[in-house]
Amino acid sequence: MKVFKFGGASLESVERIQQVAKILQAFPEEKLLIVISAMGKTTNELEKVAQNYFMRKREIAAQLLFNVEQQHLQVAEGLLGNREHPLFTQLQQFFTEAEWTLGEKPLRNYDYYYDQLVSLGELLSTAIVSAYFNQIGVANIWLDVRDVFRTDNNFRDANIDWEFTQRQVTEKVVPLFNKTGIVIAQGFIGSTDQNESVTLGREGSDYSAAVFANMLDAESQTIWKDVEGLKNADPKLFPNTINIPEISYSEVIEMAFYGAQVIHPKTIKPLQNKQIPLYVKCFLDKNLPGTVIKEEVDVKQLPPIIVLKKNQVLLTITSRDFSFITEDKISDIYEIFHGLKIKINLMQNGAISFSCCIDNNPEKIELLIKTLHQGFKISYNEGLELLTVRYYQNGLLEELSRNRTIMLEQKSAATIQLLMK
Ligand code: ASP
Ligand code: MG
Repeated sequence: MKVFKFGGASLESVERIQQVAKILQAFPEEKLLIVISAMGKTTNELEKVAQNYFMRKREIAAQLLFNVEQQHLQVAEGLLGNREHPLFTQLQQFFTEAEWTLGEKPLRNYDYYYDQLVSLGELLSTAIVSAYFNQIGVANIWLDVRDVFRTDNNFRDANIDWEFTQRQVTEKVVPLFNKTGIVIAQGFIGSTDQNESVTLGREGSDYSAAVFANMLDAESQTIWKDVEGLKNADPKLFPNTINIPEISYSEVIEMAFYGAQVIHPKTIKPLQNKQIPLYVKCFLDKNLPGTVIKEEVDVKQLPPIIVLKKNQVLLTITSRDFSFITEDKISDIYEIFHGLKIKINLMQNGAISFSCCIDNNPEKIELLIKTLHQGFKISYNEGLELLTVRYYQNGLLEELSRNRTIMLEQKSAATIQLLMK
């Protein structure tokens, strides 16, 4: 059994979905659990539906939902040839449910409604892809993952109930493979014990696929992307990037931690725990070598790995009464950051001050400053970039930081981080 994941970019048009079918046709003997995310930018569009609904701009929300509906109907028709197929009734049901939600007065919190509306993207994409594949002879069964992935009710970032979900996978998903070679399921979504839809965090489909891989004891997981594989830097930000043929689980976790938007950071643990290799391959040309992520890789063969996080803020927190910033004070400060869900990207402390670099989120920073204001003086500097280089070489560092002012620097044997203006 193999697990494949296809993201939004591989489903954004009729042609691309046809291309995905070609990939599957190359694995006729294989048992495949396929995880699919929403088509193209659908999730972003549904987020706008949810925002407008919650701000009581119901007409705008309905119009935006209508646009999503039209896009999906067009793609479905492009694939299936007409609108007679039972798929169109299924799609209609999904939209009717979403319209009901828009008709309700929002009585619960935003995150709840967000999940009820945004989960639609994956239901639509999987239904369309599944119907089309069956029509062209790529026989498959469509699975509503909400019958399998049980979570808590931490809407927008729900946590999987591992035991319950494993039981569901064993009892409901495994037997499907006696009837079919391919099961198609939604990424990114799940359900509470009250049958409310949840989402697992943006870009969470990689993680959904890894949960399946773990629970099905898959031999491998493959993430099919529109790029060649994992690169040593983001090609949108740096010229001359290099493809990385092999890299370890721990290295990928580090890259994600420093801000590389490669693979959803939660994806690695379920795979590492069962030593399941993760392949990143290009769906436009499956013969390209791509990348394999596995346990042991000699770091000597890695190129320097560069991660750039933009729009950073440097906060300097100084005690007002000149008292030392000792462990107890640091612990108080951390608790405040934790309470506001602010992640510290880099920190350094001195006798009476504590400096840290965080993402620029004006609302959160305002709250943070208000909360810290009592005991501390706070200054901050915005418009910064945090550069992290693993396996750095001096020439490269000079090049990357030329004409920049370094606000903070941290260095270990393997990693250097520069906060630059
Ligand atoms: N469709 C979701 C998102 O765009 C999940 C995913 O793509 O992995 O965030
Ligand atoms: Mg996506």
